[in-house]
Amino acid sequence: MTTTQSNFKKPIIIAGPCSAETEEQVFNIAQALASSNQVNMLRAGIWKPRTRPGNFEGVGEIGLKWLVNAGKAHNFPTTTEVANAKHVEQALKAGVDVLWIGARTTVNPFSVQDIADAVKGTNIPVMIKNPINPDIQLWVGAIERIADAGINEISAIHRGFSSFEKTKFRNEPKWGIPIELMRLFPDLPIICDPSHIGGTRALIEPLSQKALDMNMAGLMIETHLTPDEAWSDAKQQVTPKRLSTILSSLIVREKNTGNADFLTKLDSMRTQIDDSDQRLLETLANRFKIISEIGQYKKDNNTTILQSDRWFEILKNRKKNGSELGINEEFIDSLLKLIHKESVLLQTKIMNS
Ligand code: PEP
Ligand code: MN
Repeated sequence: MTTTQSNFKKPIIIAGPCSAETEEQVFNIAQALASSNQVNMLRAGIWKPRTRPGNFEGVGEIGLKWLVNAGKAHNFPTTTEVANAKHVEQALKAGVDVLWIGARTTVNPFSVQDIADAVKGTNIPVMIKNPINPDIQLWVGAIERIADAGINEISAIHRGFSSFEKTKFRNEPKWGIPIELMRLFPDLPIICDPSHIGGTRALIEPLSQKALDMNMAGLMIETHLTPDEAWSDAKQQVTPKRLSTILSSLIVREKNTGNADFLTKLDSMRTQIDDSDQRLLETLANRFKIISEIGQYKKDNNTTILQSDRWFEILKNRKKNGSELGINEEFIDSLLKLIHKESVLLQTKIMNS
């Protein structure tokens, strides 16, 4: 797989409205984005998949020519979301340069295959958003289906994952998932969409910086001249001016530097990390060994595995001790729950043996 935007300097910036609303809106936003000279590609949603009915569902086919003409007028390649074969056919006919598959489509292998069949034989670049649920296999499967259709300019878009719990994000980033995707496809460019992760304007900048620090290839940021009046995703869209401020403030760090001193120092610090991880593993192995001994002891004395008073005491204590050591309490909480789960599993095996 090669990069969709191989002719662009990293990071590639894709901007434009969540939805195409009117011809003037698309033209005016393209003009404003062109004047900053920071944007590489124009986006606009033509068909909008909405979770609940009754919301604006996109202007449909007519918007394609607004997008393509606005792109031509301001020298932008254009991109839009396709959710089925008919969308692909209409977008290709209108001359859209790059297609993207939305999060609600990536979850459905039938739909992805439908799109894959429709792009077969074309050389249209395709960007694939992560599925709404945190299932990396669905994301991988969609990439494979598009690759199997002969498309070689594929990139992924990280737009976060839905969850039942309310968090400060509209869609939780779960950075570990795109990082795992990088491991599976080292050459696949991943673009971050901080607009749909954050859901609010204030989160766009920190999420964008984080994405660049994760070595992502670019950013897709929803932009609108009057965001509060946008027909979709009003809360997360930023003005071109705000976009420009955000982009200017981002620090683009290099993955590597040729500086020998830097590499030597980094190597030595990494050796310390390796040692530290080794000790961590040995400590865990030791804990699990004691856990197994206790499991046998509980079995011999016919007592339950879970002793809830003891467990709550541990949780409380360790959080206190950990935060005194400067470790984030939420992290200790999750780590201990993970260790405890494994410990209960080990003792259950012993009880049942
Ligand atoms: C969008 O980009 O406007 C969109 C609908 O995105 P997602 O598929 O990530 O929800
Ligand atoms: Mn949107």
